[in-house]
Amino acid sequence: MVFKIKEERCIGCGICQSICPKCFSIENGLAKVLDCDPEDCDSKQVSESCPCQAIIVDEDAISE
Ligand code: SF4
Repeated sequence: MVFKIKEERCIGCGICQSICPKCFSIENGLAKVLDCDPEDCDSKQVSESCPCQAIIVDEDAISE
């Protein structure tokens, strides 16, 4: 499972980092995906918690 960030949607609110600090950090006002074990994170919770639908949790998804 892979996380991707749609940077054009991200507002840098930090919710993803607060839920999954092993998988997300905020750098220069945008979320960045860290090299983490997906088991460290509730992917459904974090993706649904993003207010901007900026987190993609499908490894086959293509960033727009
Ligand atoms: S929760 Fe969404 S909008 Fe907020 S920092 Fe993370 S990816 Fe960006």
